[in-house]
Amino acid sequence: MHIIGGGIGGLSLALALHRVGVPARVYEQAPTLEPVGAGIGLWPGALQGLRTLGVAQWFWDLPVCPFRWAETATPDGRTITGFDVSGITGGQGYVVRRADLHRALYEQLPDGAVVTGKQLVGLAHDPDGVDLSFADGSTERADTVVGADGLRSVVRTALVGAHDPRYSGETAYRGIAAVAVEDLGMMRETQGIGWRGAVHPLDAEHVYWWAARRVPAGQMQDPHTRKQTVLGGVEGWVGGLPEAVTATPAEAILHNDLYDRDPLATWTVGRVSLLGDAAHPTTPNLGLGGCMAIEDAVVLGRAWAQTGAYGPAFAQYEFERHARTARVVRMSRLMGRTGSLTNPVAVKVWRSLNAVTPARVAASMLAREVSYTPGPLD
Ligand SMILES: Cc1cc2nc3c(=O)[nH]c(=O)nc-3n(C[C@H](O)[C@H](O)[C@H](O)COP(=O)(O)OP(=O)(O)OC[C@H]3O[C@@H](n4cnc5c(N)ncnc54)[C@H](O)[C@@H]3O)c2cc1C
Repeated sequence: MHIIGGGIGGLSLALALHRVGVPARVYEQAPTLEPVGAGIGLWPGALQGLRTLGVAQWFWDLPVCPFRWAETATPDGRTITGFDVSGITGGQGYVVRRADLHRALYEQLPDGAVVTGKQLVGLAHDPDGVDLSFADGSTERADTVVGADGLRSVVRTALVGAHDPRYSGETAYRGIAAVAVEDLGMMRETQGIGWRGAVHPLDAEHVYWWAARRVPAGQMQDPHTRKQTVLGGVEGWVGGLPEAVTATPAEAILHNDLYDRDPLATWTVGRVSLLGDAAHPTTPNLGLGGCMAIEDAVVLGRAWAQTGAYGPAFAQYEFERHARTARVVRMSRLMGRTGSLTNPVAVKVWRSLNAVTPARVAASMLAREVSYTPGPLD
């Protein structure tokens, strides 16, 4: 199997296939696999998936604290709605450093399983195989291919044509800061007007924070302007966000516009399939995009182990994954719309509606999306 893309999804799939005895190699465009990203929230499905994949013990020994309480709050610190999230996750939900997750996956792979500096630029498939061409001029003939090459997947374009992703209307800033943490199990999203954000404890001395604002796409800034913009947007907020942003080196603040795509009817054509963001990119409002890439990998690994052939394996994998991933994309899109309102009247109405909605309703909506688990590999 040729896997295009060495992100969370590509590495997880390589590991799943390795565990079930299917040879697989990852082709990653980056020259080296450097530590990347800020933090990432992992829900029960991803955590069960990582255990199934045999991710090493050091990862489980990290000093992270499970989510205990989830709430939304106003910038002046008033809780809009809140509930016990550990009851949903069984204590299986927390934020880790993305770099730790990548390393934990990569370390379990056999030598030579990841080839870096290989940017796919073309793919053509026929009933007997798949021709891949890379930016360095090399070509390969593959038996089967999975595109795990993210939001702007070249593999996806070859399968279903070139279509722009849908801009959510929000841009996001992220970072990790060394600040003391008061409540390790708190997961609080603060919703202002046009801005929202959160601070998630990583351990007793570090937090992962994000902030998002409603703005047209493509307004990228240099790191210093970026930091000042976020500080201006969350000025005076209680809950630790301004302090976390202040404590983050400007050049370490990440900035991405947020996109998703409408669910595809199918993401497999013959010997080629898709996984993770290449198949079903979602906005990060539920914190499930990376989790679903891990879940995909476990399900495809199992499908391959059970069927032993690409046709039935890809069919079983898509059958198991389509409804879940499509629902998450839609639910996350809806959450983004309601969480980032810019009209003060609409914000007031939305907060009042939330305040009178029983917490168990919000809890059960979240439970539906985050309590999924992908099952075993065989
Ligand atoms: C602000 C933000 C916050 C998020 N928070 C969370 C969260 O808390 N929890 C969560 O689960 N998810 C979260 N996500 C979503 C998560 O980041 C993605 O869903 C996840 O990274 C998808 O993994 P992937 O491997 O499918 O794709 P990617 O991570 O995009 O990896 C794709 C890989 O393919 C490589 N590649 C691309 N094109 C080519 C090519 N042509 N040839 C070779 N290689 C190529 C890239 O270099 C990259 O390494 C968040 C996303 C954002 C933007």
